[in-house]
Amino acid sequence: MYWRASQVGIPSFVRIKPQALGRLGIYAQREAYRKPVFLVSAGLPETLSQPVLEGFEAKGIKIHRWIEVDGADFDVATNLLAELPSDCDALLGLGGGKCLDVAKYVATLAGWPYYAVPTSLSNDGFCAPQSSLTLRGRRRSLPAQLPFGVVVDMEACLQAPDLLWWSGVGDLVAKLTAIRDWKLAYHQCGEPVDDLAALLSNATVHQFLARPTRDLEGIRLLATALMLNGVSMAMCGSSRPASGAEHLISHALDKIVQHPRSHGLQVGVAAYLVSRLQSDNAELIADVLDKTGFWQGIRNDPFSRHEWLQAVREAPAVKPERFTVLSTRDCVDEVAAMIDQDKVLRGCFVD
Ligand SMILES: [Zn+2]
Repeated sequence: MYWRASQVGIPSFVRIKPQALGRLGIYAQREAYRKPVFLVSAGLPETLSQPVLEGFEAKGIKIHRWIEVDGADFDVATNLLAELPSDCDALLGLGGGKCLDVAKYVATLAGWPYYAVPTSLSNDGFCAPQSSLTLRGRRRSLPAQLPFGVVVDMEACLQAPDLLWWSGVGDLVAKLTAIRDWKLAYHQCGEPVDDLAALLSNATVHQFLARPTRDLEGIRLLATALMLNGVSMAMCGSSRPASGAEHLISHALDKIVQHPRSHGLQVGVAAYLVSRLQSDNAELIADVLDKTGFWQGIRNDPFSRHEWLQAVREAPAVKPERFTVLSTRDCVDEVAAMIDQDKVLRGCFVD
């Protein structure tokens, strides 16, 4: 069965602007929250936490609990659910992807209004209808509700480290290959495509691709595109708009390599390889990854050729029901030839 009807709860409160962290207290006051609980990435720099604390103090709102979250483990989430005060009237996740995955899952289980406040844009997880949590040692994507609110401080995200910027761009270009795979599955197996979800995903990605610059406006476009991609997944009840063969390769790599690299770095490179297998969008993807400095970031710490070929070989088995370009033929030799000969990939792999 391909289809899941979806009753979508989508973010109603969205602020993507500079210095939004300092305005969280204003937003909380407007919504009349009296007992907000914060889940915060362990080790979040004071430069990011201080404006939030000052903003709440200025509005006379006492933060009910302020809890640091380390790691993205299922047990961490369920323990928090048990320990958090039941009179919490809003849950705010502040920081990086792992903390936000935990916060979103806790809010889903508790039924609290949830606000995602990412301080970097390294992937689309902050507004996706799943939480990526470790369950008995294995990473799982567990269903979660979209946040009620999304607050992105553009200045904070602009100052995030290079690697997180490249990761966000990598996860974004992967949407092009994901949509292509979805349409391929429609033509080859009759899997229905939700046209509006595909259109929403594609349109926002192209807005960023038209202006892939690392400045405030580029951050606004990247945040908007990643957020609306999450919404498009919720609309169609599937990760199809965001995840195709490139994500399967990345998931296979996570299992093979001892220390998986950032999700977005893996899927960005995989998206380029897959776009060549699909014979679509390869130049566009290569170009945006060039303009954003992504390729240079990969060359600074190249991937392992043999691990990647193993991942391409094992990728279709990661999710056998998902038809992608990798289902159409054995692609390992083609990818090996790309790694060895494609000028775009020069220096991105070592043996
Ligand atoms: Zn992704």
